[in-house]
Amino acid sequence: MSDIRVRIAPSPSGNLHIGTARTALFNYLFAKKVGGKYVLRIEDTDAERTSQAYIDNIFDSLKALGLNWDEGPDVGGEYGPYTQSERFDIYPKYAQILLEKGFAYECFCTPEELEAEKEEATKNKLAYVYSKKCEELTEEQKAKLRAEGRKPAIRFSVSKAQKAFHESPIVHFDDLVKGDLHQDTGLIGDFVIMKSNGTPTYNFAVVVDDMLMKISHIIRGEDHISNTFKQILIYEALGAEVPKFGHLGMILAPDRSKLSKRHGATAVSEFVEKGYLTEALINFVALLGWAPSDGVEIKTLDEIAQDFRINEVSSSNSIFEYDKLNWMNGQYIKKMDIKELTEKAKPFLSKYDLTELTEEKLEKVIAATREPITILSDLEKDVEYFFGKDIVYDEGVKEENIDTEQAQNILKYFASQIDSYDFDNEEKLHEQLAEFRTYFKEQFGIKPKVTMWTIRAALTGRTRGADMGVILEVLGKEKVKYRTEKAIV
Ligand code: GLU
Repeated sequence: MSDIRVRIAPSPSGNLHIGTARTALFNYLFAKKVGGKYVLRIEDTDAERTSQAYIDNIFDSLKALGLNWDEGPDVGGEYGPYTQSERFDIYPKYAQILLEKGFAYECFCTPEELEAEKEEATKNKLAYVYSKKCEELTEEQKAKLRAEGRKPAIRFSVSKAQKAFHESPIVHFDDLVKGDLHQDTGLIGDFVIMKSNGTPTYNFAVVVDDMLMKISHIIRGEDHISNTFKQILIYEALGAEVPKFGHLGMILAPDRSKLSKRHGATAVSEFVEKGYLTEALINFVALLGWAPSDGVEIKTLDEIAQDFRINEVSSSNSIFEYDKLNWMNGQYIKKMDIKELTEKAKPFLSKYDLTELTEEKLEKVIAATREPITILSDLEKDVEYFFGKDIVYDEGVKEENIDTEQAQNILKYFASQIDSYDFDNEEKLHEQLAEFRTYFKEQFGIKPKVTMWTIRAALTGRTRGADMGVILEVLGKEKVKYRTEKAIV
């Protein structure tokens, strides 16, 4: 049994972001590789930015991606995640320990006083750090401030922790991805760990939880590097073992700016709603910063897990190439089990009365139209002619492929043949269509593909689309007859 324990700790202030999905994946892969545990923790200490809908979206998206977490409070046979708002009674105990050890102090400054300090720093063109005004307050002074009705926040004393555990103010750590990282802790002001309302701040709650959950490795985005120095000092002050950290490069849009809504979808659920398959999404995000050793990019989660090594993850930023995702999604659509694909396609076909077709026929439709598409929502247009009685002709099709004398002759002859066709047998239909084409070629020298364009145009309103045998079989005799006759003028 491995001692490796990792976590994904999203803040539910939005739907699960594709970048968070990648962080979750890299944690998951890292743990799976060594038989470790992967934990989900919802970081919802900021009640105003939290919503249950976002929490549900995070669960559903992680599960849909196959990134099921390994433990948590039992909720009826399933694991719920750890949720910080349900742990509010835990954090003050650890703040108390820091107060007692002298690594934290009560701060009675009002927002106005703090604002004034900040303005002063701005005026003097200095980076703002808290003045430490409250660090050495006597018990008497504190009692007086309390009597005034002031409620203290608790601040962490950066300098005291640094002096106790590091020779130099320059604190280092060895990042799993980026190697040596360091920061002058003299530039970090004494930060609040418990707000005056009794709730913990992010940097404190995250350390207490990671410590209690025995998280051994913290893999997250590089936007958290500056927090890591604060967190290391808190671990040390609490007398806890400092976990290993690995910071991943950011995911940027093709224009190298931060990936945002203006570039396209950013939440996993948005991609799914647009018709991306979760299998393709997870494969795609794995390649943002990691490369398979054999160069084969299309891989299942299990195959990726076999090959994944965190120290091989690139420390630089990755570009989110929507075109590549489209290509990859198309690959997954092409090879997915047809029953599974049909199920996934159904939500995209809600415009049609799916009861018009048996399940078997619907599967044939999807199998015959999946080849060129990149996202499932493309199907809606591509399967249109399989539903309803009438069709809409694409522009120019009627004039070029239906209304000519030659086309009319083909259609009339086709109409006369329909009764003899075996509509329940795709193979037979292929043979019959082949005979039909040959007849026009031999009798009138009409190219087989021209003959087929005419039939296709009459039955679908288009000159390209699914296999003709499938079209005939799925439409059935009545519809084929109806549409052919309607095309004859
Ligand atoms: N809750 C933090 C976030 O969503 C992540 C914290 C962490 O990974 O340490 O950015």
